[in-house]
Amino acid sequence: MPERIDLHTHSLASDGTLAPAALIRLALERQVELLALTDHDTTAGLAEARAAAAGTPLRFLDGIELTAGWRGREIHVVGLQLDPDDAGLQQHVAGVHAQRHARVQAMAEKLTQKGLPGASLAATALAAGGSPTRQHLARALVAGGHAIDNEAAFARWLGRKGAAYVPAAWPALEAAVERIVAAGGHAVLAHPHRYQCSAGQLRELCAAFKAAGGTAIEVSLAGMGQGDTTRCAALARRFDLAASVGSDFHEPGLPWRPLGRAAKLPDGLRPLSAAL
Ligand code: MN
Ligand code: MN
Ligand code: MN
Repeated sequence: MPERIDLHTHSLASDGTLAPAALIRLALERQVELLALTDHDTTAGLAEARAAAAGTPLRFLDGIELTAGWRGREIHVVGLQLDPDDAGLQQHVAGVHAQRHARVQAMAEKLTQKGLPGASLAATALAAGGSPTRQHLARALVAGGHAIDNEAAFARWLGRKGAAYVPAAWPALEAAVERIVAAGGHAVLAHPHRYQCSAGQLRELCAAFKAAGGTAIEVSLAGMGQGDTTRCAALARRFDLAASVGSDFHEPGLPWRPLGRAAKLPDGLRPLSAAL
């Protein structure tokens, strides 16, 4: 079984900073053996990444990270080894894309009301094409000198308590899981430790995820604390979910999310990589 595994990464096709081929080059430099590209709500980067990995020691898996809603929270579901051309998946992704576009525009209008150049900020955020996220708008705010960094842009403008925040209406958790499964993929509950749920709510989330057809949960994510890993491992055991590993890599400049460098899985779990 490969040692260096990264089943959660992003490229320019969503809110990462590396082109898919550059991501593969970096993964090869770091001797990653098994890697999935899992951009937010898009499969646009997969063909380039797959081509870049062909003929190298790196085994590449098609992936995606779908945004979903559950009890008013935003939940992320990673899909691995799915068919990127599946019609139902593409239809789902097109709907989310239209919604993301409208949300960036709505937040830009709020920025305009606050005296900022909302139209040009939105144009910058949407220029990358692909799947527009709040991260893109945050980077436009930073580039325009309206915030010192992304964190400040979220705190003041784009976060839940920010002045330009617009809530999102994501597809239901169950719909996201079902889309991935119908496209032939494994559905993985992403970063359970980041949802600010109580222990009881996390168990209910896992139960709903499992009932919808989910088969795995992220247990070891780069930068995750030991306590979170232990809690996620307990959820994997309790709900008989396979355990996944990844970095949630977005850019080389963020040392706490290093590509291909997640900690080893705790003992006694079923590694998802064994089924891929
Ligand atoms: Mn992201
Ligand atoms: Mn995520
Ligand atoms: Mn991610």
